[in-house]
This record gives sequence, structure tokens and C-alpha cells, in this order.
Amino acid sequence: MVVGSGPNGLAAAIRLAQTGKSVTVLEAEDTIGGGTRSAELTLPGFIHDVCSAVHPLAVGSAFFRTLPLERYGLEYVHPEIPLAHPLDGATATLSRSIDETVAGLGSDGVAYARLMRPLVRHADFLMGQFFAPIRLSLSVAAHPFLLARFGLQAIRSTVGLAKSAFKQAPARALFAGLGAHSIQPLENLSTGGYSLMLGVSGHAYGWPVARGGSQKIADALTAYLQSLGGSVYTRRRVGSMADLPPAAAYLFDVTPRQLLAIAGEALPPGYRNELKPYRYGPGVFKLDWALDSPIPWRDPRCLRAGTVHVGGTLEEIAASEAAVGKGRTAEAPFVILAQASLFDSSRAPAGKHTAWAYCHVPNGSTVDMTGRIESQIERFAPGFTNRILARNVMAPAEIERHNANCIGGDINGGSADLRQWFLRPTRRLYATPNRQIYICSSSTPPTGGVHGLCGYFGAQAALRRAFR
Ligand SMILES: Cc1cc2nc3c(=O)[nH]c(=O)nc-3n(C[C@H](O)[C@H](O)[C@H](O)COP(=O)(O)OP(=O)(O)OC[C@H]3O[C@@H](n4cnc5c(N)ncnc54)[C@H](O)[C@@H]3O)c2cc1C
Repeated sequence: MVVGSGPNGLAAAIRLAQTGKSVTVLEAEDTIGGGTRSAELTLPGFIHDVCSAVHPLAVGSAFFRTLPLERYGLEYVHPEIPLAHPLDGATATLSRSIDETVAGLGSDGVAYARLMRPLVRHADFLMGQFFAPIRLSLSVAAHPFLLARFGLQAIRSTVGLAKSAFKQAPARALFAGLGAHSIQPLENLSTGGYSLMLGVSGHAYGWPVARGGSQKIADALTAYLQSLGGSVYTRRRVGSMADLPPAAAYLFDVTPRQLLAIAGEALPPGYRNELKPYRYGPGVFKLDWALDSPIPWRDPRCLRAGTVHVGGTLEEIAASEAAVGKGRTAEAPFVILAQASLFDSSRAPAGKHTAWAYCHVPNGSTVDMTGRIESQIERFAPGFTNRILARNVMAPAEIERHNANCIGGDINGGSADLRQWFLRPTRRLYATPNRQIYICSSSTPPTGGVHGLCGYFGAQAALRRAFR
């Protein structure tokens, strides 16, 4: 039995079904997919990604890449440029090609190429290490020097890494925007690892969107699972173990707080006490817009990018993330924006467009960030607000209402700081002291994102122990 049909729940179910197990997935909501759902949130004909929108981690996932998902309707659409980062007077762009990226970074280009080229050359190996539980990573002997060099850089803070590597604003800002996906103050150790790995993923795999919406990822995973004999039932919220039929193993695509509520009585007190202090991270405040026409970026190169990081310089982005780290909302928030309809015409009626954006806020924040997010976009795209036909607003409470895993609006299944990166959610990782019960959500390594690897490793743990 798998509880929850997010990408990790579906990945776990597929892995179990691949080995011949009989698998059933129970999903609380009306539709499947967890963080990979799409819906007409604003006006008829405008398809919005309710949670995840941009998929470097899915397209680069060592597990998803082995699955025949395109046969089940999944197609990734690659924008011409993965990422643009406008500044007042310049725009840094991360292209698929390192040479093209370097050309736009002025005198920092050489340093960028020196830092990134060896990592991109070994992207599959490094992604395999970064996106695996630490004990699996350490057991791999291939490329020890590359791994050591990467590790020494990845453990640094984004601010430390960017300031020592680069002298000018565009390259520093590019790294700051990438590092801010960690949802931590950019002075924190290991945020540099996010800058490096997201940058590597942009060059090696691209930052695509799913044609028709992220829902297509969940639909393809579900269709493939069904082809292996698995079943998925929606509107089946699991409140306790009594809601579940007898099974050899139970895999939970939920976070520790929910696991305690559902299965606490089946777990020994010592383990319950280990789960209780698990920390949730900041929340997000998200907006979706139906637009009359594309966003009027001052620099038209931004129209070639699927994702735009809106927030200015490294110092400005660091200040925004530091405020959130101290429990405050930022006056000028760092905004992550995706404009899928520019590259996927199925997202909006002819000539019309969609845009998706969010900023980080303290966990559970009730502050309305609509005006602040839209002013940040206006700063780099004057006239943006005049193009808005309709908007959908999701504060942390709405995000949690949409998906019970997003506690207080936390989109990563728990803070992914250095400690909770390695011991996630406890030192046992996917396993619990009960041989039948496993956790396989983004509250396990390798943390949040649509890659299915938490589900894959969770299933492997169950196969080793429950089905030994
Ligand atoms: C606003 C937002 C933007 C994001 N952007 C991106 C992005 O662009 N790219 C990216 O890679 N990632 C992104 N993410 C993160 C990504 O969506 C998550 O990390 C990922 O979906 C986690 O997968 P999961 O399977 O662990 O959990 P989830 O996807 O959260 O799925 C958990 C499922 O379990 C169900 N469930 C919970 N409790 C119960 C219960 N008691 N009984 C039955 N079912 C239950 C839920 O309804 C849900 O369907 C974003 C997330 C959000 C919210």
C-alpha cells in the first residue's frame, strides 16, 4: 500500500510493481499527482501548474529516465534558454551551452567556465551522488577527485562561493538566484551546492516544462503503473492505520507530522520522539496569472527563457532570503517566475498567456505578497500589471489546503538545511523500526523536487527489509 500519489508515491509504487508486487495507491484529493497537478485556476482555457512547473530534476532523474513515460503522453518542452536573470542595465542568462552563457558574463566568463565545465561534463555522475542518500554516495569510488572538489565547493554558502568565484554583478546574481531555491539564507553552508547543481542541471538537461502542464507527469506515471498492474484510488484520505487493508508493507508519501498522526501507534516511542523535532521550512506565496499578451520584459531576451529569476543583485536576493530566515516577509522579495505558455501553446487560448510565480515567506505567513511580487516584476517589465486578465492567489494556507504535505506552505517536505539533508527525517532515512512501515516522500533524501528518487529509494528499502 502506498499512501499519497505525489511523484514520490507514484515512483515508489512503480518500483514495487516492477518487481512483481501487487501495489495500490490511495490519494486523499480528487485528483492524482500531489505537487504535479495542473488546473484552470484563473479563466477557462488557461492551464496553470498548481505547484511545480519547471522540471530539470524530472528530466535528469536517474529513475524517471529509465521509465517509458513518453509512451504514456509525457513530452518535455525545452525553452530556448533555461533561465534569464534581469538586472538594472544587464541580464544574465543560463543557456544550455556553457560557451553562450560565458559570452554574457563579461570578465567573469572564464571563471564561470572553469567552475562549471568539469561538473557539467560529469553531470550524470554528480547528480547521482547529490541525489542519493549519503551512504550510497560515499560508497562510490568513481571520480574521487572530482567528487572531492565538488564537495568542497558544494559545502560552501552561495554568498561565499559566488563572491570568491566572481567579481561582477551578473554572475553573482545568477548564482544567488540558483542558491535561493534552497529556501534558506544564502549565507548558510551548503547553499552553494544548490547553485552548482541547479546550474549543472540547466546546462546538462535543460529546465523544461511538461507539454499540457505538470499534471502530464503524474498522468504518465499513473498510466505506466497501471500497465504494471498497480491501481490508484482518489478521495481516500488515510487518517489512521485502521483505514488501510492488510499489506506486506506500507509506504507513506507524507511528512513526519502526518506519519505520526496516521501510524504513531504502530511505531515505538523512541522513534516517535526522533520524528517530533523534525523542522519544517519557510512557506511560499504563489500567484498565477492569465495574461492578455506576453510579459513586457524590458530586455526581450527574457522572452526566450522558460524561467526568470526576478530580484536583482546577489545582495538584494540575499537580503530577501535572510529576512525570511528571520521570520519576516521581504519588502522586495526574490521571485521565481515561469512563463510556460511562450513555449507550450496548449496552456492558453490563442494569443493569450499564463505566468506562474512565487516568493518565499515565513512558514504559515498570512501576509498578502501580491503587490510586492507584482512590483518586482514591474521593475523589470514595466506595464506587466496592465496585461493581467485574472489572477489566482495561494498563500501558505491555501497551498496546504491543496496538498496536506505542504505544512505551513513548505514545498520541500521540511527544511533542507545541512543537518536535515543528511538525517532526513531521522538517521534511519526511509525505514522505521516497524518492518512494515516506510516513508518515501520529500521528507527523505534527496529532499524536495519532482524527481521520484525519494520514492525509488523508499521502495528499495522496503524491498530489502519487508520483502526479504
Ligand atoms: C508552489 C510549488 C512550486 C513548486 N515548484 C517546483 C518546480 O518548479 N520544480 C520541482 O521540481 N519541484 C517544485 N516543487 C516541489 C515539488 O512539487 C515537491 O517537492 C514534490 O511534489 C514532492 O513530491 P512528494 O511525492 O514527496 O509529495 P507531494 O507531491 O506533496 O504528494 C503528496 C501526496 O500525498 C497526498 N496525501 C497527503 N496526506 C494524505 C493522506 N493522509 N492520505 C492520502 N493521501 C495523502 C497529497 O494529497 C499528495 O497528493 C514545488 C512545490 C510547490 C508547492
